[in-house]
Amino acid sequence: MHSEKIDHIGIAVQNLDEAQPFWEEVLGLHFEPREHVEDQRVVVAMGHLGESHIELLEPTGPESPIAKFLEKRGSGIHHLCVKVDDIEEALRRLKDKGMRLIDEQPRAGAAGKRIAFVHPKSTSGVLLELSEG
Ligand code: ZN
Repeated sequence: MHSEKIDHIGIAVQNLDEAQPFWEEVLGLHFEPREHVEDQRVVVAMGHLGESHIELLEPTGPESPIAKFLEKRGSGIHHLCVKVDDIEEALRRLKDKGMRLIDEQPRAGAAGKRIAFVHPKSTSGVLLELSEG
């Protein structure tokens, strides 16, 4: 398994229009156009930060996992995403080592990338996203 870099840090926000200006105008990040990721019921705003990104996540409805997170903890860091070269191999390896996976198979993330989540129980309490490509 080869982990290449931190692809992004995901931040849960109540409202992108309120959250994004800090990152965009104050910190000077360049943002991609927003994207609705149906599968996770979120709207994503991805800001470039060097080799990595800041991913702002706004829920599209109360059933979104991000809405549940916001309800429990308020806005803040939601997950860390590591880029891997082969997501199937990474998932197989984690499973072999007895790690708890949220996604046993890759699914569609933002920008058409294949992603999968690893349970915080196996990662020192951090929700970990793996992303390929
Ligand atoms: Zn993410």
